[in-house]
Amino acid sequence: MDHGIDGMKDKCGVVGAWNIPEAAHLTYLGLFALQHRGQEGAGIVCSNGGRFQGHRGEGLVYNVFTKPTLANLPGDRAIGHVRYSTAGGSIAKNVQPLWVEDSDGEVAVAHNGNLVNAVQIRRELEKKGSVFQTRVDTEVILHLMARASGDAAARLKAALTQVKGAFSLVVLVREGLRTKLFAAKDPYGLRPLALGKVDRGWVVASESCAFDLIGAEFVRELDPGEVLQFDDEAGMQSWSIGVEKPAPCVFEWIYFSRPDSIVFGESVYEMRKKLGEILAEYDRREGFQADMVIGVPDSGIPAAIGYSQLSGVPYEMGIIRNHYIGRTFIEPLQSIRDFSVRIKQNPLRGTLEGKRVVVVDDSLVRGTTSKKINQFLRDAGVSEIHMRISAPPTISPCYYGIDTPEKKELIASSRSIEEIRQFVVADSLKYISISDIYSKLRPKTSMCDACFTKNYPVPPTDFLGEQVSQLKSEP
Ligand code: SF4
Repeated sequence: MDHGIDGMKDKCGVVGAWNIPEAAHLTYLGLFALQHRGQEGAGIVCSNGGRFQGHRGEGLVYNVFTKPTLANLPGDRAIGHVRYSTAGGSIAKNVQPLWVEDSDGEVAVAHNGNLVNAVQIRRELEKKGSVFQTRVDTEVILHLMARASGDAAARLKAALTQVKGAFSLVVLVREGLRTKLFAAKDPYGLRPLALGKVDRGWVVASESCAFDLIGAEFVRELDPGEVLQFDDEAGMQSWSIGVEKPAPCVFEWIYFSRPDSIVFGESVYEMRKKLGEILAEYDRREGFQADMVIGVPDSGIPAAIGYSQLSGVPYEMGIIRNHYIGRTFIEPLQSIRDFSVRIKQNPLRGTLEGKRVVVVDDSLVRGTTSKKINQFLRDAGVSEIHMRISAPPTISPCYYGIDTPEKKELIASSRSIEEIRQFVVADSLKYISISDIYSKLRPKTSMCDACFTKNYPVPPTDFLGEQVSQLKSEP
């Protein structure tokens, strides 16, 4: 699935660095590695043990930070964030880390995930006099911390046990002259968060691919409900805010995370290849044959390789992706059919012409992008298109931080597989069954699969459904 065209987008990545010289530079590199999780804004808040410094802005990491801005971010501790706006809309003041200061100190927070009771908490706090600065769900954590008593750890615990939903977050706190860094995962473990080591310092990041770029050693992932606390006197400590039935997001494997990351204990690349093998197994059972298999770049490629390796059907590039499209490009005045897809992806005509092609994609959300891709494959002379989706049909929205369209826009929520096949102009269409996801990928552990099953791990009574969607759509 292509970022942003067919309707699903990643939401946010976080980095935290502790006891590392030039922590802001390292955080910047970590954010760079996590750019796929959010392209609308980036920010870093850092400290040398005293007052915080920070810089935030809209756009890609390399647009937001320049050499001079990084030179103004000294210190050996920092947190950072790349943002894709789901809750709160895309305006400059919503870019994280969110950062507040009072007479006792400062708190900065960077959050990946979505809090399903943020609207309810916000309304209650506003009645008590709290004034909110942003439309971001994360801000309730700052307000809840401000109203709690005790030290930073006690106030964070008080806040995190009141919010519900998905959070993998990093928090930098200054109390007087003392700073602490916290990294926390929600009790369901919905979003990834990993711990790495750099010399005598520590780094946490949404995905382990960030560690590779900064030369950190992957240590482990945080457990659901785990909080890591770093401070100058006690070093690193681990404590818990409580554990629920684990519900790591299965879509992190299918699409969101980078294939070179370890997420929920598995190599994302290997999991995607296994998904491709499941699809190949379906076709092998039916004696189906094709001339080649291609993956819709980039996220469909590992599953296409897995399909090829199990089936023996040759893997070819098939579609070439232009990686250098900025956020805005100037469209031609005269209409070119499917320009938005064609500027990003172009079929390899000579390779595809006259061939029966298996096209592997990681998901089919609205179906509009797949339809355009299949149309340009037909224009390139493909004789048969057999779409294989390395996921079950997406039938319900995500409330935990992935920007899915409303239910009515999800093609599989209202159409049969045969109707979807016709819509995307494919000769055949197959999805992976949810039971095969569990039997082949994760036999013993529960996961969140709600966008395929509607089995939401946080009880629906907590959603305040109407209010959550209202927050999601506000500018
Ligand atoms: Fe992931 Fe879907 Fe669950 Fe959202 S609803 S957390 S995308 S599995």
